[in-house]
Amino acid sequence: MSIVKTKYVFVTGGVTSSLGKGVVTASLGMLLKSRGYKIFLLKLDPYLNIDSGTLNPYEHGECFVTKDGLETDMDLGHYERFLNQTTTKENNITSGFIYKTVIDNERKGIYLGKTVQVIPHITDEIKKHIKKIGKFGYDIIIVEIGGTIGDIEVLPYIEAVRQLKWELKKFNGLMIHLTLLPFISATGEIKTKPTQHSVRNLMENGIQVDIIVCRTSSHISNYIKKKIALFCNVQSVNVIESIDTKIIYEIPYLLHMQNFDQMVLNFLNLKSIKTKTKNFYLEHWKSFIKKYKNPKYKVKIALVGKYVTLHDSYKSIRESLIHAGTINDIYVQIKWIYSENIIKEENIQKIFKNISGILIAPGFGKRGVKGKILAVKYARENKIPFLGICLGMQISVIEFARNVLGIKDADSSEVNPLTPNPVIDLMNKQKNILYKGGTMRLGDWKCSLVKDSKLFSIYKKKYIVERHRHRYEFNNKYIDIFSRAGMKIVGINPETNLVEALELKNHIFFIGVQYHPEYKSTVINPHPLFISFVLFSKKYKSYDI
Ligand code: GLN
Repeated sequence: MSIVKTKYVFVTGGVTSSLGKGVVTASLGMLLKSRGYKIFLLKLDPYLNIDSGTLNPYEHGECFVTKDGLETDMDLGHYERFLNQTTTKENNITSGFIYKTVIDNERKGIYLGKTVQVIPHITDEIKKHIKKIGKFGYDIIIVEIGGTIGDIEVLPYIEAVRQLKWELKKFNGLMIHLTLLPFISATGEIKTKPTQHSVRNLMENGIQVDIIVCRTSSHISNYIKKKIALFCNVQSVNVIESIDTKIIYEIPYLLHMQNFDQMVLNFLNLKSIKTKTKNFYLEHWKSFIKKYKNPKYKVKIALVGKYVTLHDSYKSIRESLIHAGTINDIYVQIKWIYSENIIKEENIQKIFKNISGILIAPGFGKRGVKGKILAVKYARENKIPFLGICLGMQISVIEFARNVLGIKDADSSEVNPLTPNPVIDLMNKQKNILYKGGTMRLGDWKCSLVKDSKLFSIYKKKYIVERHRHRYEFNNKYIDIFSRAGMKIVGINPETNLVEALELKNHIFFIGVQYHPEYKSTVINPHPLFISFVLFSKKYKSYDI
């Protein structure tokens, strides 16, 4: 298989995890797209889960869902938001997926009696996937290798990349290493030793890095760059910094100012392509950052969820609020509310004091549901703008059934499987499913909007397509009684009749959606539902800056 035409950039991470490798990868993708190239971003995850769907958000942050229904790593969200281009199953593979493929092949007898081994069978399967992408017609494929250099799990990927580098012609493969430069406050020094060790570890595995990106809390001097260059076999001009920023969207521009994209093109022996869109992304980015830094108003959105100690658990929602606010000159301050802390009606007033809007996040299981119901009640009764996403919508249905329709035992069968009134119930198709991974209703589904609804006025079209991730649904037996009492079904899947969206009449903004609008918001195309929610929140209560 020839992979001569496509250029490959491999990004590894050293010293610790959580350095923002995904953001640096996405930033490079955006900068090169801005230069006129067709870019593909691929994330290789070293864990043994087949996909990210079964991972706890506390450990891995939010689970992102692609349009074709793969539950993936959070970094794919960055890829979409930065490149304004959708991802699919091809953009993410895990070691679990690779191992399963190899083991399935072995059972089928495909290896013809060979001893099946990490090298060559696992590494070949990794290379096969990377090469397959090379046939899709992209100019540059940026491959982000998850995990940290030195981890046992990362080794098969490093070995696969080493082999690939040999197969690739000169100028067609580039290695970028993102590393941490710790700052020792007692001596006021930035330390390079951990970087030297992680680059050396790569060398021991046969890989020479070309560019080193240093994550740092303060600017690095030429002296530091030279020192890193000396120990790591790179030119000091190819040592750059990725400094801590207030928002991640500043990063592409800061990297660009250090010649990052040009440096990569030089290594790959490429020139900027003259296209109409050339520099469009970078220019757009500059004005976005300017707007973000100079807001005219502030709104305070209460984000109610059960994973609130880690903001990464609701990453896409957070970013969608930033996109929607920024383009409307609004700074969206998020008040993170741990739903288990909302215990009594008395403390609610204190929690939601001065709030402009309430958003109930997606989620699974019963933990924190009680508090979420109280939060919905507060938003409904006090006419505070409300947006419920997935579980958030389901909670608004339970609340309405109990407190407006008087069905006191109404519940979701996810929370109480024995409830006599399952207003939210398991979807028929889900009933006999045993395996938890990859079996939810996932990815893009069509939704038909009711013309006379707020949602229609927001999307300005009858049919929309949004991404999903759920097993439970609104129980259609209750449609009439809900509608008569003012909770209107405004979005339905045309093929299955599943309820996709609800809204409350006589309320400034009370919308619940079974789907996840947050997966589709990007810097260039902020999502209309978030824009509307933020604007209604501003109308309800805004603060001058
Ligand atoms: N737990 C709910 C379900 O499976 C909602 C899931 C979610 O919020 N993504 O239907």
